[in-house]
Amino acid sequence: MTDSSDFRPEARIPRGFADKRASTLRAERRILEAVSKVYESWGFEPLDTGAFEYADALGKFLPDSDRPNEGVFALQDDDEQWMALRYDLTAPLARFAAQNWETLPKPFRRYAVGTVWRNEKPGPGRYREFIQCDADTVGSARPEADAEIIAMASAGLEAAGLPKGAALLKINNRKLLNGLLTAAGVETDGQKLAVLRAVDKLDRLGIDGVRALLGEGRLDESGAFTKGAGLNAKNAESVLAFVQAGAGVRSETLNRLAGVIGGSAEGDEGLEELAKIDAALKGLGVAEEQATIDPSVVRGLEYYTGPVYEAELLIETGGERFGSVGGGGRYDDLVARFTGERVPATGFSFGVSRLAAALKAAGQGIGTEARGPVVVIVFDQSRMADYFAVAAELRSAGIPAEVYLGSSGMKAQMKYADRRLAPAAVIMGEDEIAAGTVTVKDLDLGRELASGITDNAAWRTERPGQQTIPRDKLVEAVRRIIGEGE
Ligand code: AMP
Repeated sequence: MTDSSDFRPEARIPRGFADKRASTLRAERRILEAVSKVYESWGFEPLDTGAFEYADALGKFLPDSDRPNEGVFALQDDDEQWMALRYDLTAPLARFAAQNWETLPKPFRRYAVGTVWRNEKPGPGRYREFIQCDADTVGSARPEADAEIIAMASAGLEAAGLPKGAALLKINNRKLLNGLLTAAGVETDGQKLAVLRAVDKLDRLGIDGVRALLGEGRLDESGAFTKGAGLNAKNAESVLAFVQAGAGVRSETLNRLAGVIGGSAEGDEGLEELAKIDAALKGLGVAEEQATIDPSVVRGLEYYTGPVYEAELLIETGGERFGSVGGGGRYDDLVARFTGERVPATGFSFGVSRLAAALKAAGQGIGTEARGPVVVIVFDQSRMADYFAVAAELRSAGIPAEVYLGSSGMKAQMKYADRRLAPAAVIMGEDEIAAGTVTVKDLDLGRELASGITDNAAWRTERPGQQTIPRDKLVEAVRRIIGEGE
């Protein structure tokens, strides 16, 4: 930073942050409106919490060293306390639930939409600031609460514009793999976490890569070595058999898994929970094509304690890889961090920008070029009041309209209207005003003709490119252009 008056900063946006223009914002808003409506119809109430939390409330990313902004964006307040921007909407919910537990209706069902920030290395589709939409049930240990979240997530994705069959909810239970490992004599949490992380990479590395990570470790193409979980060959093979026992009809997968994890108490508990989730999903009308049991889904986050879910995009996305559009699971210990009391909770979260990008790639996004306002051309500087009256009249008829407020001439104004994707331009000169008329130019038609969509001469005469009409027919004429009221 410099005080020098001739210092010119380069106009640039920080890495991992994005400017969003109208078409993106409209697409995101539409998704959020559709999903919020679904979540409310299931009895979930909206909740908003602040962008900052005290760093100790976020916990998981924070190292015990003196660098509290590892993974999060943190700052020290003037009372010396560390605050951090939230990295997801789950940790703030846990804090809120702990703080208000006495007065909340229990179970507490809430959905939330908000920006989250992650201080990590950005990459394609991986931002440092993005919007998440979450729904959680706090205070119910019933597997049916998980089933409901899964069914609702599926309904939400469909409402957002993903047709049935375009997204698949994949369900697993952490208890299965934990049970399998305990039965095999793997006791330390560190080793179990290393196994989970290895399995989480199945998509990317394939079976052989995961096999290496379950054992001694893996050498990647660049020559870098990742230390493995240190399982012996027999245990590594049983983990691999487990993760490959998936797909197909849910109840059949469960039978197959029962054979593979064989009889550990925690594993049996996990299977029982999945069976109850399956039964509830049947009751809720969630088809096998919408939700499946897939033992390879483990989810990266440490805090999950039971069922976990992930939403995978199945549609062709032109070679683009989207990873998961959403995920979640049961986290029974997050509220206990504050109160010491275990509060069972389960929820699902999806990234709005990733879903919008996925919809667009799947050809389901709304037209990226949404229509602009009708532009009233300033033909005569002394007639501004008349132009504003025209714009006001259009707006009160529900038609977005604006008066051109730049300083350019006619030609540039027409160009401006076209760039705004205005459906029409309204032109009123001295003659029109004196005669009580107005000229309307159909810019939609102009664009259609230019793009070759319309070349039907008969239609062209039916729909004049430019017409001078009595002033009181203006709204009607514009409506015809927009395609309303025909
Ligand atoms: P998570 O909170 O990590 O379980 O992520 C939940 C969802 O948020 C993911 O399925 C993504 O859709 C989205 N998401 C996670 N990380 C990012 C990121 N860095 N940029 C954009 N979206 C993200």
